[in-house]
Amino acid sequence: MSQFLPDPKRYSAIPYARCGRSGLKLPRISLGLWHNFGGIDQLENQRTLLRRAFDLGITHFDLANNYGPPPGSAEENFGRILKTDFAAHRDELIISTKAGYPMWDGPYGDWGSRKYLLASLDQSLKRMGLDYVDIFYSHRPDPETPLEETMGAVATAVKSGRALYAGISNYNAAQTRRAAAILKDLGVPLLIHQPIYNMFNRWVEAELLTVLAEVGAGCIPFSPLAQGLLTNRYLQGIPADSRASKPASFLKAERITPELVAKIQALNGVAHTRGTTLAQLAVLWLLRHAEITTVLIGASKVEQIDDIHSGLKQAPLAADELASIEKILAG
Ligand code: NDP
Repeated sequence: MSQFLPDPKRYSAIPYARCGRSGLKLPRISLGLWHNFGGIDQLENQRTLLRRAFDLGITHFDLANNYGPPPGSAEENFGRILKTDFAAHRDELIISTKAGYPMWDGPYGDWGSRKYLLASLDQSLKRMGLDYVDIFYSHRPDPETPLEETMGAVATAVKSGRALYAGISNYNAAQTRRAAAILKDLGVPLLIHQPIYNMFNRWVEAELLTVLAEVGAGCIPFSPLAQGLLTNRYLQGIPADSRASKPASFLKAERITPELVAKIQALNGVAHTRGTTLAQLAVLWLLRHAEITTVLIGASKVEQIDDIHSGLKQAPLAADELASIEKILAG
């Protein structure tokens, strides 16, 4: 393993955007470690992906307690690579983690209690070898725990110095408005919301984006490529090295029906006409909203990060291109 000397030009390689009304700027694309960073994945490929992302000015890496498999292993691997490659660059990185999905047995290893969130954050810090994370998220709302308790735990994470900023993920518009108000009362502003948002899942457009603008929080959409569907990956069948081929994956091969492939091919046609890849088109389509701070991609190969990064140089989507996309999505 060679010593990592990051590209000195990295900070002119990507635009940064302010996250809501905070002081924090994030790169327009961020890298998530949900897939391809677990104990089952090659550590050297993980290192290559992280180095390449950082060389391109991607300063934000997103994790969660349960990323793997096995759960926790993505944080462990990230911690290893942080130590060997990024030790001199901690203050240049925005590292996030989350708690909210099942992590350990018993009543304190899931959902949104203060007990779970703070114990989980301590475990995450230990796995990554960090004193603090930059953003700590409640990973999902808990219907049985008072929101005051969950937000209180997130605020404690910040006030105790274990996290710098507060985030929520998978909260609907009404829950987001309440969460932001509770956090504000506790003196810890809501920095960011992490919802799913892509051409095939547009729930945020109804109300959430307006609420985020109202409360001054940023937005980091996850699965912007619908886990790879909105790319050239599945245009000719299901490649053996793709997410849909992996046994423990959330992207099931059965979802890739001929009707869906026809839609993806039509979208690919729009991308082709403007000389872009479908993955680039899907990211530019999200960035059309002022509320979107950064788009949270996943990647199994360096070329995928390069592809999306180079798409950021392109002109925003024109009205006729947006109309063509709408027509395909409605069909
Ligand atoms: P994407 O929708 O970006 O899917 C990533 C996959 O798309 C890659 O693994 C790769 O598939 C394929 N891909 C990426 N770029 C290209 C390209 N340029 N050309 C062709 N194929 C490409 O995101 P994810 O679903 O991975 O989610 C991103 C992150 O969001 C996660 O890592 C995690 O941090 C976060 N997340 C948060 C959740 C939450 O509840 N808060 C839930 C889910 C994700 P392949 O592997 O097949 O090569």
